[in-house]
Amino acid sequence: MKRIALLGATGSIGRSALDVIARHPDRFHVHALAAGRQVPALVDLCRRFRPRIAAIADPALLASLAQGLAEHGLDTEAVAGEQALTAIAAAPETDTVIAAIVGSAGLASTLAAARAGKTLLLANKEAVVMAGELLYRALAEGGGRLLPIDSEHNAIFQCLPAGFDRDLAAAGIRRLVLTASGGPFRDLPAAELAAVTPTQACSHPTWSMGQKISVDSATLMNKGLEVIEAHWLFGAAPDQIDVVVHPQSLVHSLVEYVDGSMLAQLGSPDMRTVLAHALAWPERIDAGVERLDLLRHGRLDFLAPDRQRFPCLDLAYAALRAGGNASCVLNAANEVAVQAFLEAGLSFPDIAAVVETVLASVPAAPVQDLASILECDSRARRLAGVEVSRRLA
Ligand code: NAD
Ligand code: MG
Repeated sequence: MKRIALLGATGSIGRSALDVIARHPDRFHVHALAAGRQVPALVDLCRRFRPRIAAIADPALLASLAQGLAEHGLDTEAVAGEQALTAIAAAPETDTVIAAIVGSAGLASTLAAARAGKTLLLANKEAVVMAGELLYRALAEGGGRLLPIDSEHNAIFQCLPAGFDRDLAAAGIRRLVLTASGGPFRDLPAAELAAVTPTQACSHPTWSMGQKISVDSATLMNKGLEVIEAHWLFGAAPDQIDVVVHPQSLVHSLVEYVDGSMLAQLGSPDMRTVLAHALAWPERIDAGVERLDLLRHGRLDFLAPDRQRFPCLDLAYAALRAGGNASCVLNAANEVAVQAFLEAGLSFPDIAAVVETVLASVPAAPVQDLASILECDSRARRLAGVEVSRRLA
């Protein structure tokens, strides 16, 4: 029986995880569920999964969480605050932590799970982008392992030889190819990008996801973050990671070997496959996913990404090549810009412009520890806030 803490339970990944978990009550037990601010949704999940602990990140919501649990006669313990989430990630009662909080808010709990030696099912890609080096140090200290919950990285993981240890050359691998759907604006002329709305940006053609990652998919920053993620997860240099647009989202990524073989993983675009793979690994279990009917789809297309219309992709490559704090700056500026696009009327093209300006204005520095990363994160956020205000004025 795997004992699970699910951080980000009320989100898109959280719900896909719980769907798979509910199909296999003989294999998985939910020990703790955590969310940011959605108390009624969290209480509802507690009714269904009966965890020992429920955590809400916003401390102001602790009383209403406790009340909601009591109203339903649940003996689940209510806790709140980022420290409570971090404690849950490291709790001795669990062996598996699903890190599915969105954004930098997930960093501390992700690191705590790694340090505690958990099997870390990592969806929170922002954590690895901000602090890849620290995360791998924490994993080494804790002796746990990371299993990727990103369709591309999970696909690559499935195409790697057994025992792979973040050394492409030793495994005979030439490069990794990440596929991208191209997002909802794949074919939109550059001149029309300035007028797109958050609703349009969040209408992803093939995947159903949270708002932030949907906007990132539309700008291709999501693919940029994934390039950085692939660097850390697989030990790939920037030149060994390529991106191709594949509108059908059926080939989830590929590994090219030195002998000319390319291995790919295919499946319906449904994150439950990824979650089932990682939850049961190294076994295989039913995920409740629609089987992939190749004849119905008929074709697989591949095209080059448009790096002019979607400059975020190259901004991410540049940050990865720069090393040190640059990826943390990129991520922080992007989080601020995406939020301003969703809530404050920042234009779609200005997301990339804000990120570019902030990247250029924070001096390069090495990342030694969590404190220096958090300091870099808040500095980049401040600068991004100023740049957003300037563009909105
Ligand atoms: P979402 O917005 O649907 O859900 C986010 C979850 O995080 C919610 O449960 C929310 O309550 C919680 N949360 C938000 N702010 C928080 C805070 N300050 N403290 C604690 N919890 C907080 O997002 P999602 O689409 O499920 O994505 C989650 C993560 O998984 C992201 O990093 C995303 O990039 C990654 N991911 C998602 C998908 C997908 O298909 N949705 C695919 C690959 C990777
Ligand atoms: Mg992905």
